[in-house]
Amino acid sequence: MFSKILIANRGEIALRVIRACREMGIGSVAVHSTADADAMHVRMADESVCIGPAPSPASYLSIPAIISACEITGAEAIHPGYGFLSENANFVQIVEDHGITFIGPRAEHIRIMGDKITAKETAKSLGIPVVPGSDGGVPDLAAARKVAREIGFPVIIKATAGGGGRGMKLARSEDELETAFRTARAEAKAAFGNDEVYIEKYLARPRHIEIQVFGDGKGRAVHLGERDCSLQRRHQKVLEEAPGPVITEAMREEIGGISARAVARLGYAGAGTIEYLFEDGKFYFIEMNTRLQVEHPVTEAIFGVDLVREQIRVAAGLPMEFEQDRLRINGHAIEVRINAEKLPNFAPSPGRISQYHAPGGLGVRMDSAIYDGYRIPPYYDSLIGKLIVHGRDRPEALARLRRALGEIIVDGIDTTIPLFRQLLDDPDIQRGDYTIHWLEKWLAEHLS
Ligand code: ADP
Repeated sequence: MFSKILIANRGEIALRVIRACREMGIGSVAVHSTADADAMHVRMADESVCIGPAPSPASYLSIPAIISACEITGAEAIHPGYGFLSENANFVQIVEDHGITFIGPRAEHIRIMGDKITAKETAKSLGIPVVPGSDGGVPDLAAARKVAREIGFPVIIKATAGGGGRGMKLARSEDELETAFRTARAEAKAAFGNDEVYIEKYLARPRHIEIQVFGDGKGRAVHLGERDCSLQRRHQKVLEEAPGPVITEAMREEIGGISARAVARLGYAGAGTIEYLFEDGKFYFIEMNTRLQVEHPVTEAIFGVDLVREQIRVAAGLPMEFEQDRLRINGHAIEVRINAEKLPNFAPSPGRISQYHAPGGLGVRMDSAIYDGYRIPPYYDSLIGKLIVHGRDRPEALARLRRALGEIIVDGIDTTIPLFRQLLDDPDIQRGDYTIHWLEKWLAEHLS
């Protein structure tokens, strides 16, 4: 086992990894920018290294700075968290070239899944159902027209290099195709430096269902059921729950089995998530994330496992402890993402937290790096905490979430907490009856 791990991240996910290290008796090294000198992950780690100025390209994304921090502290492995360098195959290569272990999959698998077209082709070849669409990239408008006519409108045009919901455009009919095609390409070029796009059938009212998978890198893999992440704003997840309110045991076994067998065949190592759209009882692959997800705690809650511990064990070459027939679901879990944002427009709301009181009690987990007097820097994303509740069933989890949202206090800045308090009263949410479009519509009706 490693004696020291460097965490190439910040905020709540850095804390999450430090906590796993501590329970395993492993030393932890935090890295931070000058803006994060007072951050909780720096305080909580055994050691810390300042790796550069506030803007992330000069610090959290600086590969030389992170490698140097490993060399200075003698850390033998790097946990990337999510975001930042977690899905950068080039980074993984450099880390390994320096004799440091990357806690995650091999560079090759990150590369395959990072390109959406290759990912889709690979998924298809591994027996995973995909959304009908173009075979690979669509070079020009004429080709786009041909594909769209074949699969039928509406269609969605997506960036091959896409991520974070950017570079996606809907064309409801032939008239909208040209504009959608051109803007998708322009946005893709601006956001990712690559203007290649592809076309998919647009699903009108799907749910976002993702399967947590885990591989040992040697051909064995398991699945840990699904998470329903349909509640989204601008393609960003807002609330996640597990198990999915409309997924039956038979569906879970089928799609879980398909997903686990696919990653086993790949020889995939560590945690991964296969994302699907789910409509009329059918699953359609959209992408695979080759890292730990923000919403991993809901899976941990219902299976009673520690995904980060298992990531570390597998990276250290130990056998995977997960066994499919011993992974059993217990109860229901819900996570809400608390952002430092001002409603109704979700404008970033950095600043000083004058008072913080975390909710607690049975079945409540608060993953956050904020504290009384903490000043949220304006440079990074606005997630300041994740509130996760676990109950024996969905009604109990909902009641517990309502109770915990009543206890939490974050003063001095604006947060998305009031949104969740209001959302929980909605009958559709109580019934679990929502699609990926539900939240945008609800926001337009309730917050404007
Ligand atoms: P990104 O990598 O940018 O997050 P994804 O391919 O994962 O892009 O898609 C993000 C979200 O966009 C999905 O969760 C869903 O809400 C929507 N979406 C993607 N593809 C389709 C599609 N074919 N039909 C309808 N909605 C889609």
